[in-house]
Amino acid sequence: MRSYNRTHPDACYTHFTRAEVWATGSAEAYLSDLLRQLHPEDQPEMVSYIQTHLERCAQDFPLGKVQSFRSNRFRARNADGQWGWHEVRSRLYRHRDGLIITEGVMTEITEVMQLLLEDSLTQLPNRRATEQWLQRILDRNPQEKLAVINLDIDRFQSINDSFGQDSGNAVLQQVALMLQGQLPAGAWLARLEADEFLLVLYPEARLSEARLSEAGSGTGAAPAHDEAGMATQTEAAVRRWQERLQHIFFERRERRLRLTASAGTAVHPNGANCAKQLLQQANTALMEAKRLGPGGYCLYTNQISQAIDWRLQLEKSLDLAIESKAFTLVYQPQVDRWGRWIAAEVLLRWSLPDGRSMKPDVFIPIAEQTGQIRAMNHWVLETACTQLSQWIQQGLKPPRLAINLSAVQLEPTAQDPALVEELLEACQRHGITPDQLDLEITETALLGNRELALQQLKDVVDAGFRLAIDDFGTGYSCLQILQTFPVQFVKVDKSFVQQLPNNGKDRQLVESILLIARQLNLQTVAEGVESEAQLHLLQELGCDSFQGYFIAKPLNSQEMADRMRAELAHS
Ligand code: C2E
Ligand code: CA
Ligand code: CA
Repeated sequence: MRSYNRTHPDACYTHFTRAEVWATGSAEAYLSDLLRQLHPEDQPEMVSYIQTHLERCAQDFPLGKVQSFRSNRFRARNADGQWGWHEVRSRLYRHRDGLIITEGVMTEITEVMQLLLEDSLTQLPNRRATEQWLQRILDRNPQEKLAVINLDIDRFQSINDSFGQDSGNAVLQQVALMLQGQLPAGAWLARLEADEFLLVLYPEARLSEARLSEAGSGTGAAPAHDEAGMATQTEAAVRRWQERLQHIFFERRERRLRLTASAGTAVHPNGANCAKQLLQQANTALMEAKRLGPGGYCLYTNQISQAIDWRLQLEKSLDLAIESKAFTLVYQPQVDRWGRWIAAEVLLRWSLPDGRSMKPDVFIPIAEQTGQIRAMNHWVLETACTQLSQWIQQGLKPPRLAINLSAVQLEPTAQDPALVEELLEACQRHGITPDQLDLEITETALLGNRELALQQLKDVVDAGFRLAIDDFGTGYSCLQILQTFPVQFVKVDKSFVQQLPNNGKDRQLVESILLIARQLNLQTVAEGVESEAQLHLLQELGCDSFQGYFIAKPLNSQEMADRMRAELAHS
């Protein structure tokens, strides 16, 4: 192939005026010369680009007619030895002297491609680049063995919120640098978006082979490896990165932050038939890891995908349930040492179309993850207040109602009113007073943005509502929570009560919880009291009040009214 090229003065593009196609032999020489200058990953596409052109040349087509117009992007070394992106656009037509002419423009597009394929903050490849790269690998070998890891920094939004976007960016850059420093040769690292990174690892055996065959992009078959081995290797690598992340301390305004990240892995081949699907699998595993809590890890399997489908289905049904008012409330009495009825916990039930009801243990955690809990909690508060005022209007003397709060209610968005406002408004609308409502919050719900939670709960307590720490003893930082938050009640978790009176360890645990509470002047409630023996022991240990099946199962509103009437008759 002979070509007449004119290079533009600013060297931005090269205009091919007449490239005459002669015999296939010389075209091959031209091709191999061109290919040698290309990035190894872009060579297969260039081969097919030129081959298509040559095939078209062999066809017979009329004078002056444009036969084909094609473009191709590839990387070639620039004068400074760096890879630069170029785009070639060319067409074929039959010239009047009978020659087939290829004419086109070659443009340097490095900057455009950087914008398109690179994340400007970390200079890592972005999602689009990752997808293209991965697809090229799978096109070359659909059975390629590799592990795709989706890694996401936990609670990154709160770093941005508390320290500002610049600090958030600095954290991301540090994470990128750390990961880069940890990666084996030939691995891929990208920033997909916000705080989400993507890594691709090859099996160790494959890597050592790649190192031997220099370019690392050979099309030779990978040596055999077992999938389980690859999964174990990957998990070990991820755990190392997670550990190192904890050492990236971030200090601002005298606040230290220890980073944690969750990660999900998809090992290929695993049923995914394109890059998009493989990335989706890794993301699904990441969602599952996130669900397991900060610093979680999960390997993609079909079961996980089924569990997620089930949850998605449940999420849809929950939406319908919120619209069709399929929720009801039940109330579980709490009594004091003398058996007097002092309060009732408000518990949510979901009535299914087939008449059964679903327990909140199943659907509340999902509603909390999806944010549907906001609407549900709003409904619970409204309904409980309506019910309370109805009982009062009927001349009954209802006990205080204890309402469960969720973590999201302590982190209001711009559209939501502050928690205390929502509560006070509900009270006002229904003519009840804050001392008729208790609020229960779990220790784990307080682990998010502590300062915000503390301020919100102080406002709530200042307004006259009482606050209980729920499921006490199951979280991490029990004592600190009791000292920091304006709490009046501690609810001893039912898991400690269940093994009483026989389990000595649980007895000691309950004893010390009750002791601490007494020293801090807090009231105690034992949950899940199921037997007389448990009740007696708890009374003996100094517990103030009791809730559980032995005292009463959760009651519907009619049963509650009946019980109130019975109490009135006794008094
Ligand atoms: P929780 O706040 O710890 O509520 C106590 C749970 O223990 C209730 O389960 C109650 O029915 C159950 N229980 C009561 N007595 C006994 C007993 O003697 N033995 C045993 N084994 N269990 C007993 P439920 O109603 O299934 O609620 C489960 C969880 O769902 C609640 O745990 C609470 O965290 C959440 N939840 C329930 N209703 C609401 C609500 O309206 N809003 C929010 N945010 N969460 C709710
Ligand atoms: Ca509760
Ligand atoms: Ca509880």
